[in-house]
Amino acid sequence: MQIVCLDLEGVLTPEIWIAVSEKTKISALRATTRDVPDYDVLMKQRIKILKENNLGLKDIQAVIGTLKPLEGALDFLNWLRERFQVAILSDTFDEFALPLMRQLGYPMLLCHRLEIDEKGAVTGYKLRQKDAKRESVRAFKNLNYKVIAVGDSYNDTTMLSEAHAGILFKPPQNVINDFPQFPVTRVYAELQDVLLKAGKNLEKAG
Ligand SMILES: [Mg+2]
Repeated sequence: MQIVCLDLEGVLTPEIWIAVSEKTKISALRATTRDVPDYDVLMKQRIKILKENNLGLKDIQAVIGTLKPLEGALDFLNWLRERFQVAILSDTFDEFALPLMRQLGYPMLLCHRLEIDEKGAVTGYKLRQKDAKRESVRAFKNLNYKVIAVGDSYNDTTMLSEAHAGILFKPPQNVINDFPQFPVTRVYAELQDVLLKAGKNLEKAG
């Protein structure tokens, strides 16, 4: 029994915060885990910038509502779901993900929640658990699944390491340099080949 754990942003959808940055023209919101590997530092920075600019949850949701999944993402995901169990493991938030999940046919998504005050301002965030991507992979392993994980960035590397097989998809060069042990794929067709091979290898290994 095999399950594929996919990162969301950069693998199936654009980077949500970069889109928010472009729409709001606040360049400081462009930073992602590609630039700041420590997620807590990054999120506190984002929340501070939102507050300074009087941007609430509704403003961000309005931007996310205009986003589309990456070209070919839905076809890729449908292809994958015919062949493997699939879970999307993301460091985004339920409040942000919904418009994109709708366009992807509501696959399983395990992510986090935002803290919102009565005026609709983002005041904080609640991680479902620490190192949630890795813990999710660990949990699937405890359920006797063989796990293949796919991600593009620093916040994916613990789940890629924890999985039976880890694959990078369209990673930036610094991630490739820091994690040379993972195969690198750049388009969905290539990712599909590597996924099928990984699946066959895991089946052989029993
Ligand atoms: Mg990503």
